[in-house]
Amino acid sequence: MPETMSTSGCHELWQSALPQLAESVGHAACDSFLRSAEVLDYDGDIFVLGVANEFARDWLTQRHLSAINACLSELADKPVHVQMQVVEALQPPAEAPATSGQVVKPVTVTFGSTPLNPKYSFENFVVADCNRFAHAAAQQVSKSPGKSYNPLFIHSRVGLGKTHLLQAIGHKVTEHNPNAQVIYISAESFVNQIITAMRDNRTAEFRRKYRNVDVWLVDDIQFIAAIEGPASEEEFFHTFNTLYETNKQVVIASDAPPRHLQIMNDRLRSRLEMGIVADLRCPDVETRIAILDKKAQAEGLNLAREILGYIAEKIESNIRVLEGALLKVCAHVSLTDQPLSVPLVEEIIADYSIASSPQHRLSIQYIAEYVADQRNCSLEAMLGPKRNQEIVWPRHLAIYLTRELTDSSLAAIGQFFGGRDHSTVLHAYTKVSEKIETDESVLWDINEYKRALQAQ
Ligand code: ADP
Ligand code: MG
Repeated sequence: MPETMSTSGCHELWQSALPQLAESVGHAACDSFLRSAEVLDYDGDIFVLGVANEFARDWLTQRHLSAINACLSELADKPVHVQMQVVEALQPPAEAPATSGQVVKPVTVTFGSTPLNPKYSFENFVVADCNRFAHAAAQQVSKSPGKSYNPLFIHSRVGLGKTHLLQAIGHKVTEHNPNAQVIYISAESFVNQIITAMRDNRTAEFRRKYRNVDVWLVDDIQFIAAIEGPASEEEFFHTFNTLYETNKQVVIASDAPPRHLQIMNDRLRSRLEMGIVADLRCPDVETRIAILDKKAQAEGLNLAREILGYIAEKIESNIRVLEGALLKVCAHVSLTDQPLSVPLVEEIIADYSIASSPQHRLSIQYIAEYVADQRNCSLEAMLGPKRNQEIVWPRHLAIYLTRELTDSSLAAIGQFFGGRDHSTVLHAYTKVSEKIETDESVLWDINEYKRALQAQ
């Protein structure tokens, strides 16, 4: 590198830094601020960058300066120090050509919803123990949005049906009431829109957009804090409060429960915890088979049970991956005339590996003691033979929670709860499941018990 660069040299340096910066500062911020920035000067040490407004200058300086410095230093092969200056002439319109002559992709300028995928309906959702609670809460919310479970917070690892449930709520609400304003948006697009709004001085318009929303479905909220930090989190909190305080329904999906979210705002966190918090867990093999069967039928394919069983055994922990494997098998069927067999399927989906990571699990003893304590009955009575109502209901609750929160088999649960057989366990579980669907107070109780137990 020469000591002082030609003007085009420093423009090239800047252009070659952009793709890497998009990774480190986030695509949203990069599209909004960095692509429209202009190199004003570079003396081999100080690199002066013109940006469109004070907001952009402060945002970039406070949050991303070291990343930008590091990136340019690496490319220039010597230390580079960036300084930002506001250049009024760089104000949007967004479709203005960039300095290099490339046309900048216009940034999203309309605020609002992402369309719903028609496939993600309640009808297409297979209900099983791993998702029964979340499903019941989602159903309830779509019947009377804003009335009962607000906010509803659904969390799970990736590929277990959060987006599907969120969108199912959206479909159901609009089906009941075509005039209802439903917004489904990923936290990432929300942040994108906020950045656009702030950059273009359109925050008032942005906020107005949310004033008439009836149901706000926010997906992957973990990105709120992870991508851009406090400013977007603040705006999210503002929107959340506006809706919540006017009894509008908020449903949130996340990869972690509220207490594990990386957010700064404790008031936001406690608000998120105040509603119903429901998790989705990995489906057991029977459920995986049922899901595969349903998807295969939707693809117009009837697969033998042993083939469904093979795929379901092989892929445990992610329904999206399960579907991917199935689609690969379907594609093979439509492209060749080979009859399917287990060895052939094994070959087709050879690259899919069994990937499951055990979740932290509670002990049965702990759960039983906790419930006994909450319901003012003795553990001894709970595990004993008595069948009067004061003792049967707490026993049912404890059995339900054990099945939800542990990997214990029906037989093991029955054994613990006083040597009862597996059908008694199943009966208790079903009783509580049914109550959850009809009795709000039971759903709230279970919500609270799960929260407390999982906080251990
Ligand atoms: P997440 O948002 O949790 O990552 P998705 O909602 O995108 O997961 O689900 C991944 C895929 O699995 C989707 O195609 C979805 O339709 C499917 N899926 C998840 N749960 C179920 C279920 N219970 N029944 C049927 N399909 C499901
Ligand atoms: Mg999702």
